[in-house]
Amino acid sequence: MPPGEPSDPRRIFRDANEKIERERLRLALGDGPAPYICECATVRCTALVLVPPEVYARAREGGATRLVVPGHEHGDEVVEASATHSIVRERDGRAE
Ligand SMILES: [Zn+2]
Repeated sequence: MPPGEPSDPRRIFRDANEKIERERLRLALGDGPAPYICECATVRCTALVLVPPEVYARAREGGATRLVVPGHEHGDEVVEASATHSIVRERDGRAE
């Protein structure tokens, strides 16, 4: 399945996280850690990544980068790694 397809789980979870981010801003929850959904390529993954909004913003800035829990990199290029999260970049042309 090509990345970016509406049915691509990565796209679905990315859209969900954008809703979480909007709600977080609407509720004025501040800059403390917030629960985002793991954006890895596994359809049934419902893991939560508890990170400050600034980390989520960094994952969004990259365009093709995604926020995942450690261990869910699935072969993608890791651009940022910590005990709480990884930010990965999708490899070009990789088929799921
Ligand atoms: Zn995952």
